[in-house]
Amino acid sequence: MNYNMIALNDDLEGGRKVVEVEIQSDIISFTLNEKEFSWPISDLEFQIGGASKGLIYIKNSNFSSIILYTRDKKILKNEFVVQHPNILKSSKKISGFYNQRKVFYSSLLLFLIALPIVFYAFRSSIIKSIANRVPVEWEIKAGNKLFETLKNQYDIIEDSSLSARFDTMFIPLVNAAGTPDIDYQFYLCSDPSLNAFALPGGHIVINLGTINKIERIEELYGVIGHEIAHVTQRHHLRGVISNLSTFLIFQGLLGDEAGLIGAIGESAGRLESLFYSRSFERESDEIGFNYMKEAHIDPKGMVEFFERIKREYEIDENLLVQEDEMVKDSTQFESTSLDKIKSFVSTHPNIDERIEYLNKRICDEMVSFESKDFELDKFQKYIQQKIK
Ligand SMILES: [Zn+2]
Repeated sequence: MNYNMIALNDDLEGGRKVVEVEIQSDIISFTLNEKEFSWPISDLEFQIGGASKGLIYIKNSNFSSIILYTRDKKILKNEFVVQHPNILKSSKKISGFYNQRKVFYSSLLLFLIALPIVFYAFRSSIIKSIANRVPVEWEIKAGNKLFETLKNQYDIIEDSSLSARFDTMFIPLVNAAGTPDIDYQFYLCSDPSLNAFALPGGHIVINLGTINKIERIEELYGVIGHEIAHVTQRHHLRGVISNLSTFLIFQGLLGDEAGLIGAIGESAGRLESLFYSRSFERESDEIGFNYMKEAHIDPKGMVEFFERIKREYEIDENLLVQEDEMVKDSTQFESTSLDKIKSFVSTHPNIDERIEYLNKRICDEMVSFESKDFELDKFQKYIQQKIK
């Protein structure tokens, strides 16, 4: 068998030359500078080298001025090279190295192909784990900033006696949520529609329409349980993170959080970030339900509120369309805020599924609590007085 190799020798022009090496029996022979060399394989030493370990060197201690090398790994498979007892060991070592490298590169390739698949499969848990590394104070700051913006945009009533009343009412749910580092603050907004929304870090705004239209206080507790869950599950932050580029998320995952933190900081205070995905809504229903159970408040109130929304928007569908068109005509900012803040309404297409889920849990877990002894009429009148 013949192999093309390069011979290194100081007597050669440029120090190197391509030679044709013949391997026959246990002899390798080649011609260099018109001299014929025949080296017994037993005298040779095989080495791998070069920048990427891609070269095979053949040295002969009796002719140390000549070194042969090649990239052609086929030489290691030559039957005489392989069979020779002296070479067998080092050749195996060398081929072992190449095999290991082959395994390494195939694994790397597989890893790179699998990575995006794994990443998307575990995307939500990855986002959750990154969110857990962001301090709660960040969310509180972003929430305070958003609240200042919304206060001017909406008729949010700041009244200390009303806040105290809400605090006392909702303390059982706040206790059930068990997040002592969050200071929940409840506000009333004069908006007549059935809705409520939560800001990151604990501001929860309840529309007047919600309080006016309910028939049982447990409905309001259902709304508040759901909104508290948005805060405890850090949906706002997780939403912001999931809107960032995969690259940034991946960097954050690998521990290089600088870019990620910067990007979160930039978008955390924006109104768009109040939009929650369906899976977040579902999670808030689930966890809000748990809080109600924990606080011994009838979770059927949550179902009743969803049914109320369903009825309200089935009746008012035309009104809703008109309202949306009006919104489109107004400024971009208003359009964004109105669209996004309707957190309950924006998800009403899957409301049947949500009702079904909650009813199933009530049935499966045999949840049964007495209605609260609560004078709803008086409360509604009290709330009405707070509207200027
Ligand atoms: Zn929600």
